Amino acid sequence: LEFLADTDPAIAEIIANELQRQRGHLELIASENFTSPAVMAAQGSVLTNKYAEGLPGKRYYGGCKFVDQAEDLAIERAKQLFGAAMANVQPHSGAQANFAVFLTLLNPGDKIMGMDLSHGGHLTHGSPVNVSGKWFEVCQYGVSKETERLDYDQIRELALKERPKLIICGYSAYPRIIDFEKFRAIADEIGAYLLADIAHIAGLVATGHHPNPVPHCDVVTTTTHKTLRGPRGGLILTRDAELGKKLNKSVFPGTQGGPLEHVIAGKAVAFGEALKPEFKTYCGQVIANSKALGNQLVNRGFKLVSGGSDNHLNLVDLRSIGMTGKVADQLLGEISITANKNTVPFDPESPFVTSGIRLGTPAETTRGLTEEDFTEVANIIADCLLNPDDADVKANCIKRVEALCDRYPLYPHLQIPVPA
Ligand code: PLP
Repeated sequence: LEFLADTDPAIAEIIANELQRQRGHLELIASENFTSPAVMAAQGSVLTNKYAEGLPGKRYYGGCKFVDQAEDLAIERAKQLFGAAMANVQPHSGAQANFAVFLTLLNPGDKIMGMDLSHGGHLTHGSPVNVSGKWFEVCQYGVSKETERLDYDQIRELALKERPKLIICGYSAYPRIIDFEKFRAIADEIGAYLLADIAHIAGLVATGHHPNPVPHCDVVTTTTHKTLRGPRGGLILTRDAELGKKLNKSVFPGTQGGPLEHVIAGKAVAFGEALKPEFKTYCGQVIANSKALGNQLVNRGFKLVSGGSDNHLNLVDLRSIGMTGKVADQLLGEISITANKNTVPFDPESPFVTSGIRLGTPAETTRGLTEEDFTEVANIIADCLLNPDDADVKANCIKRVEALCDRYPLYPHLQIPVPA
């Protein structure tokens, strides 16, 4: 990093500023985390220089001996973490992983069934603005209006009526456990493929805090940078080694060129970390913190979608306090809390405004915050959002966020020298 300050002070300064921002804010975006210095070291290594189209042992380039070793380790560790027969660690992102699965299982014009974006689904699950919604016929399910949870009878009814070729489960903003066995039974009734996209909950799955979809689904995709706490990237898993071969071909040459071997080495490091007992403790703490945060918000009069959380995120329905997600997002930003506005099921507001905010605990749990701290975080959020026009309350909230950030220093070893 010293090199950077000398060779490109402009970028060095931007990185230094971003480090300060991360240190001085409470990061509650549910899809973010603070990866380890070891993961970052692997990513910032000479492996970035290597072209390695193909798979370990079967490359289209010479000089792949060592990147083969790194990729083999990543594959073996991923298989071990999730109990899969095959793992492809090359997708550049979660969206790329899903695209490779579509190329494997579908033809343009086939029908897919995923959860509506506004109920917690992802863009790649059939949104009209994404290739999944442009190239495939789409039918979408949502959560039940009464319980704001998955209603498997309703989902089954829709599947029987629409008969999609692929059913997608796994979400971006669903705070409850997913029953993969029930999805499997529905898919089997109509002979559909079943894909679980566990981008958000992968860390919880790997540590047994959420049921594992691998035994029940044809394919499982995930990102590696959310609860799994690795570098930004994607991963494809399957229990079916034969299908695995087709999936491999859909990643390269189907949808990608050269793999990012420096990122793959970072994935190997993260998977190695996730196999350790400390990571299981961490994921347990993520959920305990999420419950503490949610409980205190309820105590302070807030309404949570589905009434609470079983995982790493809470979705707060702000209609009961007459505020939009957009306003709440901005108010929290002003006191150095980073969250994101989010639609709630059956949201009357547009996706740019929304009626909710999504609050996740993975990043701040990495930093060391516990239930007691998250109770304080809930109180700060409540004080801020319930007194939007009170400058004294705001100043007090800023101080309390600062105190939490100071108590749990982030990357204390990191210093990026910036020339004066
Ligand atoms: N799938 C789900 C459920 C997600 O929540 C996300 C990201 O938010 C993705 C896929 C896409 O991941 P990426 O941003 O790495 O493409």
